[in-house]
Amino acid sequence: MRASVDPELCAGHGACVDSCPDVFALTPGGFAEATEEEIPDDHLRQAEQAASRCPEKAITLTTA
Ligand code: SF4
Repeated sequence: MRASVDPELCAGHGACVDSCPDVFALTPGGFAEATEEEIPDDHLRQAEQAASRCPEKAITLTTA
């Protein structure tokens, strides 16, 4: 599974970082990015929670 953040949709709330700090981080510009392309199995649940909780629906999870 891979995560990506659409920079056009991200509003920088940081909710994804709160839900899954091992996969998402805020850039110096204040928007989120996925820090790891391939999500480790032990972080999948958190990453899915982050995606479902993103108010802007900016996170996409895809299977590799
Ligand atoms: S929760 Fe969504 S809108 Fe907020 S920082 Fe994360 S990706 Fe961006």
